[in-house]
Amino acid sequence: MITGGISTVATLTPPVSISLENEKNPWLAAAARFDEAAMRLKLDDGVRKILATPARELTVNIPVQLDDGRIEVFTGYRVQHSLARGPAKGGIRFAPDVTLDEVRALASWMTWKCAVVNIPFGGGKGGVICDPRLLSDAELEKLTRRYTAEIFDFIGPERDVPAPDVNTNEKTMAWIMDTYSMHARHTVTGVVTGKPMALGGSRGRPEATGRGCMMVTLKALARLGLTPETSRVVIQGFGNVGGMAARLMSATGFKIVAIVEYDGATYNPKGLDIAALERHRKETGSITGFAGGEDMDKHEAMFLECDVLLPAATENVITSQNADRIRCRILCEGANGPTTPLADEILAAKKVFVIPDILANAGGVTVSYFEWVQDREGYFWNEQLVNSRLQEIMDESFDAVVQYAGAHRVNNRIAAYMLALDRVVQCLKLRGIYA
Ligand code: GLU
Repeated sequence: MITGGISTVATLTPPVSISLENEKNPWLAAAARFDEAAMRLKLDDGVRKILATPARELTVNIPVQLDDGRIEVFTGYRVQHSLARGPAKGGIRFAPDVTLDEVRALASWMTWKCAVVNIPFGGGKGGVICDPRLLSDAELEKLTRRYTAEIFDFIGPERDVPAPDVNTNEKTMAWIMDTYSMHARHTVTGVVTGKPMALGGSRGRPEATGRGCMMVTLKALARLGLTPETSRVVIQGFGNVGGMAARLMSATGFKIVAIVEYDGATYNPKGLDIAALERHRKETGSITGFAGGEDMDKHEAMFLECDVLLPAATENVITSQNADRIRCRILCEGANGPTTPLADEILAAKKVFVIPDILANAGGVTVSYFEWVQDREGYFWNEQLVNSRLQEIMDESFDAVVQYAGAHRVNNRIAAYMLALDRVVQCLKLRGIYA
């Protein structure tokens, strides 16, 4: 039995039932959606068992000498959910509440995400239990390098390719690339994506997840007969994903009426000046106290009436406890797993057009794929080529999911899972089981 936040078994026997007590366990949430898609695809039990279990899980304990001389030991994970379509791919997050179940869920979401956008990767994810806000730069570097050394045998351009995620960035990726290269005795750029440009990063990668969110939102608007100029947007999170989405969407004419962060929210019904808000945050360290908006309770801001709600932080922000208060027409899931399965049902009853995470935020991993290709070629593309190829993939994937949903009479989330599962199963069957 799995309970919220506690890791127990990797394989879940269907049917997975979600209740109020366990709705916030991400591995259960992932399993419930997987189950429904597998059932609708009439997947045979054996294949179902393979994909309901992560292929590999590694736990490492990382000693770090802190600036004051004390030694602390941090626990980290790297999970490879499936390698059927290619090397594992997925980010590494640093956060105090990381659990193995969370990393399992995130790894499986990467498998489905890569399959939805049809790029040749399996799914993986890493996490280290730490509070990066309490660590100095030097401590973070030591932690990152030792974690990399511990997972060295697990990762590599042909095995498993990490990338940034919550609280990690291009600096983290540069440390990972360097540490891996030192052990390999030569520079290996393709071991991680989301690197600085000077180290084999791709043009357009920092913006890619936010840009992808905007691209699919534009597709959804067109379906509903709406335009960016008349669309009010509420964004939760102002980091890698939310910050970029805010900047790009505001430049495209959307009205960003509220930004919600962990320490407060800012609201302006006429639309926030995002560049000014970024400057304010840089100067003060917070989005609160911004002269171009009014401070608002961060819990309430999520329930403002809007056309597009873009949760771009972490899991479980829309649950059975608050979904009935959501007042958006389009929910674009920039974060991974922001909506619980019980909340899905409530949103469906309210006829919210959901762009599920494994489609909505796939722009990041898509440009990661481009980065990996460029590193292997040693030849780099201009930004226009990156963005036009991203556009092609996001548009095609959106259309494929929405058409699938219509044809099979399922919601967009289950359609995305079914489409992804179908593609992964095809590879599994063609490869067969090695014994
Ligand atoms: N962490 C991002 C995600 O969840 C990007 C992963 C990647 O680029 O590999 O999709």
